[in-house]
Amino acid sequence: MSILTRRAALFGASTVFATLRTTVGMAQSTGPYTLPPLAYGLDANEPFIDAMTMQIHHDRHHAAYVANLNNAVKDHPQLAALAPDALLGKLTEVPESIRTVVRNNAGGHVNHSMFWQVMGGKGGAPTGALAAAITRDFGDLATLQANFNKAGAGVFGSGWVFVTVTREGKLALLPRPNQDSPIIDGSRVLFGNDLWEHAYYLKYQNKRPDYLAAWWNVVDWSKIEGRYNQALAGTLAI
Ligand code: MN
Repeated sequence: MSILTRRAALFGASTVFATLRTTVGMAQSTGPYTLPPLAYGLDANEPFIDAMTMQIHHDRHHAAYVANLNNAVKDHPQLAALAPDALLGKLTEVPESIRTVVRNNAGGHVNHSMFWQVMGGKGGAPTGALAAAITRDFGDLATLQANFNKAGAGVFGSGWVFVTVTREGKLALLPRPNQDSPIIDGSRVLFGNDLWEHAYYLKYQNKRPDYLAAWWNVVDWSKIEGRYNQALAGTLAI
């Protein structure tokens, strides 16, 4: 029995899932932006990220960013036609009346779409060109992880900690507040971790450093290597 199933049994499965499904139904909208499905089960990141957190985070929080973004652009067909990264790259051209809501919700959409992609793995270490780039730009993987965790613990309130990548493959650490995406400033994200309390509070409560340390156990380095290759090819979108 999975932890989610066990927990649902404790609380009454029908109540838990009926509540979740109702909320998802409310958050769904007709587009143009859509919630990407997870490529793995809700319990794939157990025990480090619990299934209940995954379900609420993906089905409610990410869905809400998508719904809010669709609502913001519904009267702006020229904006609604843009891919989310293109929309963030043209934020200064977005009407001021919707600029903040687009910044927050397009940011939330691309940040979470990236986040699901790079999880569902077993941790470990990268190989090949990415491993060489980490050695070149951070010294070694352990130093990158220590600096990343320290930067993530140091973000006041809600935000993200990212590793950005240039077209030339140069890596850099970049903490950002709220749902601000590095794409707004013309950068590309190799990977990042969500520092909002909704990402970890059920399991870790106020212990964000414990969550940051545990998160490396569910990173899928093969996905991050794929993103690195896309960055070098100029095809990395979100
Ligand atoms: Mn989140």
